[in-house]
Amino acid sequence: MDFLYKPPQFIKAVFPGIIWNNSQDRIVLTIDDGPSENTFRILDGLERHKLKAIFFCTGKNIEKHFNEFNAIIKSGHRIENHGYSHKRLILRNKKNNLREISKTNAIIKELTGYNPELFRPPYGLFNYHTLHAVKKYNMKMMMWSFLSGDHTEDFAQVRRLTDSYLEKNSIIVMHDKKKSYEIFDQSLEYIAKTTKEKNFVFSSNFIVN
Ligand SMILES: [Zn+2]
Repeated sequence: MDFLYKPPQFIKAVFPGIIWNNSQDRIVLTIDDGPSENTFRILDGLERHKLKAIFFCTGKNIEKHFNEFNAIIKSGHRIENHGYSHKRLILRNKKNNLREISKTNAIIKELTGYNPELFRPPYGLFNYHTLHAVKKYNMKMMMWSFLSGDHTEDFAQVRRLTDSYLEKNSIIVMHDKKKSYEIFDQSLEYIAKTTKEKNFVFSSNFIVN
């Protein structure tokens, strides 16, 4: 049942080129699907806990929430690529996969001067064409080792998952979207608290090897 929340080892072994965990013993916090009307609140939460995150943004949402996008940059967080329109790329052909990634790279490059290094496929779903496209653009695919459950709108679930699965080298996924709005602050607070209690440390600068 927790397959998605904590991907099993055998899946990781099938795709060795994909990043699942941090190779350093530091927790990497990633935030998917933004920017959104929720972004400012998320930035406040990160500031409160003195955390830096990697925001996996969609090109479409960057165009829609331009002020929020700028605020993420100004706050010193990192922006990476989550596709243009949040489609399930596993069902898409080569051309579509290339376009979803290149279009968002171009938007991010134009606004920030930065060439994205990481791609996270929407819903964690991808196919051969996705892997090909990521390679073509000199990027790495970053999945996760701990999906926080903030999108379930059920804080008890987040607490249970954090207690069970948070590790010293976890790549955590949280969400910048309407669905996580109600419990984002509470979830971040709990994850930060658990990290401290277990003497784990958050990464402030993930290095792509
Ligand atoms: Zn997503």
